[in-house]
Amino acid sequence: MKIDSIFKKKKPILSFEIFPPKKEIALLNIDETLKSLSELNPDFISVTFGAGGTTTNNSTVEIAKKIKHEYNIEPLVHLTCINYSKAEICDILEQLNDAEIKNILALRGDINPEFPRKNDFTYASDLVSFIKQYGDFCISGACYPESHIEAKNVSEDILNLKKKTDNGVSHLISQLFFDNNLFYSFNNKVRVAGVNVPIEAGIMPVINKTQIDKMISLCGASLPTDLRKMIQKHENNCDALFDAGIEYAIDQIKDLLEHDVEGIHIFTMNNPIVARKICEGIRPLL
Ligand code: FAD
Repeated sequence: MKIDSIFKKKKPILSFEIFPPKKEIALLNIDETLKSLSELNPDFISVTFGAGGTTTNNSTVEIAKKIKHEYNIEPLVHLTCINYSKAEICDILEQLNDAEIKNILALRGDINPEFPRKNDFTYASDLVSFIKQYGDFCISGACYPESHIEAKNVSEDILNLKKKTDNGVSHLISQLFFDNNLFYSFNNKVRVAGVNVPIEAGIMPVINKTQIDKMISLCGASLPTDLRKMIQKHENNCDALFDAGIEYAIDQIKDLLEHDVEGIHIFTMNNPIVARKICEGIRPLL
């Protein structure tokens, strides 16, 4: 089922994100992860796409096929474009068509000097137009409650987001954020700008300090004071940080649901225990 049809049936929706494991052995264990995640009945599971043509890209499509055909859950395939030619993107779209996979998260991809850029696509909106011309896919896009790290300012970033939805994006997933007020303010501005598609809130539980520091340095998300203090308090106690991080994520989601968020997208980091604990905390509200 296309994701825009799921939104027509129910709101809020719940979705998970996983990444293709880099190591061969971990790839073999992906079934365990998928089995546990599927028991939590998400509306869809998205699979990230390795940057710059790394070997994980093939496994993105393979894992998405498993999600659809072995676990009967809708997959959303992430697809980046700046390191690819139109012919290479066509090849992936053909694989998706053959596998009856209908949902794509169209992304530009991060600019990384390690991976040469190709000239066929500059922005995610170019990929959106290309996919629209190619065939019958439901296209999602990324959005940034605290602005994309390269954007000059919020208004410009939102105007660029509008181009993406004008070109055919029918659902957005936000970058991770820890301060719900930033998400609410972004939502208001985006609606005023005429972006009317459903927006899912991207939630990343803080369960590992190194991991979260890395994510924040990459995407520029800000840490509210209470969360910063919580991390400082538990940074040398993994179990306590895990529990406090899950509790913070549950509270964040509860507040979003009270504010009528259209969807919750959990960056599971391939950890079904994290997803399960959060789901147990929020299920009565969904
Ligand atoms: P765009 O929408 O193209 O925006 C990029 C920048 O260009 C922004 O600053 C924007 O304001 C500007 N811009 C856009 N259009 C125009 C225009 N027409 N004129 C001028 N400026 C413009 N990366 C991966 O490699 N693999 C993944 O699987 C992956 N999954 C992600 C999932 C989510 C939910 C999110 C939020 C991000 C994900 N990313 C992933 C990261 C993403 O690739 C980066 O954030 C990337 O830097 C921007 O991608 P985008 O699609 O948002 O780009």
